[in-house]
Amino acid sequence: MFENLQDRIGSVLKGLTGRGSLSDADVSAALREVRRALLEADVALEVVRDFTARVKEKAVGAEVLKSIKPGQMVVKIVHDELVEMLGSEGVTVDLNAPSPVVIMMVGLQGSGKTTTTGKIAARLTSRDRKKVLMASLDTRRPAAQEQLKQIGEQTSVDTLPVIKGQDPVAIAKRAVQAAKLGGHDVVILDTAGRTHIDEPLMVEMSDIRKQANPHEILLVADSLTGQDAVNLARNFDSRVGITGLVLTRMDGDGRGGAALSMRAVTGKPIKLIGTGEKMDALEEFHPKRIADRILGMGDIVSLVEKASETIDAEKAQAMAEKMAKGKFDLNDMAEQLKQMQNMGGMGGIMGLMPGMSGMKDKMAAAGMDDSVFRRQLAIIGSMTKYERAHPDVLKNSRKKRIAAGSGTSAADINKLLKMHRQMADMMKAMGGKGKGKMKQMMSM
Ligand code: GDP
Repeated sequence: MFENLQDRIGSVLKGLTGRGSLSDADVSAALREVRRALLEADVALEVVRDFTARVKEKAVGAEVLKSIKPGQMVVKIVHDELVEMLGSEGVTVDLNAPSPVVIMMVGLQGSGKTTTTGKIAARLTSRDRKKVLMASLDTRRPAAQEQLKQIGEQTSVDTLPVIKGQDPVAIAKRAVQAAKLGGHDVVILDTAGRTHIDEPLMVEMSDIRKQANPHEILLVADSLTGQDAVNLARNFDSRVGITGLVLTRMDGDGRGGAALSMRAVTGKPIKLIGTGEKMDALEEFHPKRIADRILGMGDIVSLVEKASETIDAEKAQAMAEKMAKGKFDLNDMAEQLKQMQNMGGMGGIMGLMPGMSGMKDKMAAAGMDDSVFRRQLAIIGSMTKYERAHPDVLKNSRKKRIAAGSGTSAADINKLLKMHRQMADMMKAMGGKGKGKMKQMMSM
């Protein structure tokens, strides 16, 4: 899976990383290739469009770090966007509900529903020490209930005894009751599939859902089916509602498009992937690992990560040194304000820092909250370079000019200067005492 995509995207991006500088046209040309590669891998058009637009936007605005070539930066951006598209954090089956937790498996016939039911049950039993009950609700295919029974015997997992002639909703009800009586932690309902989506199937799924009130509804989809799998997911989600996806046959040589589109199209996480016919061929889905595999450029990604850490550390070091010398002018303050803005404002930052609650109170007392940041920055922006470095020269006439330039008042400027003095005192005290702490704080 993904081999073709890896070859294509890999070679396009490798072409970029060799160059010293990158023009807008270089990036555009590379992204056109990436776009073509994704479409050929059967990724849904809307997903591809969105993806390339976001990469483009980020690549254009990116601050190119010292020691990093622009092409390497683009690789990192593509990587991060791939991870985002696949769902950032890996999410797995959620059992956080009162027992018995009901898991409902849905999907088309032949997608691997029954096999996956067995795999999940076997894993929950052996790895998580859960007591699991499996029930086949497939009354259409005569062999289906027998198939699940055999899987149960093979994996030593309980299955609900078959009562001939019972309809799926009645079986669901009986399964939940049996799980309660039997002290099972989890009950997995393996529903019937069809060769394609039709109205009776959707009605049946909705009825089962109403009866069993499942905590998880997992759509099992064959990753080899490409675009169809995406439509399927969309349909099941809008009609029945799903909580997650399981992609089977990820061991096959499909183009991988379904895997790449499903999350973006449904907004539902890919929770598990099937990688073979055996009962243990089930894996958790890790977006970052998949992105690494597709790009095959983990070294460049970590190089860029390292470089951005270094830059932050260098900035923090320079600031800490200034402070140790007791120097903290309005340029430094502006830099701090910008960093705070980037970090989600006052509450977020100050709350995190040990020993900083005093500063938070002082700032609040000086009338400073998040809404003030922008005004403060505008005031500092209206000062001359000399004024920023020597706040002492700011007397009435200068204040008037700055107030006019920044659309504020002299009172606002006084507030800013007061706050600056408080910050400077604070910084001086900290700079003298603990450089380490300061450095840590600045690099947050
Ligand atoms: P159902 O109709 O949805 O219940 O599908 P089944 O569970 O009966 O699976 C259909 C076929 O797909 C069986 O032969 C399974 O062994 C096979 N299968 C299921 N999952 C995987 C997988 O992840 N990889 C491979 N290679 N085969 C699978």
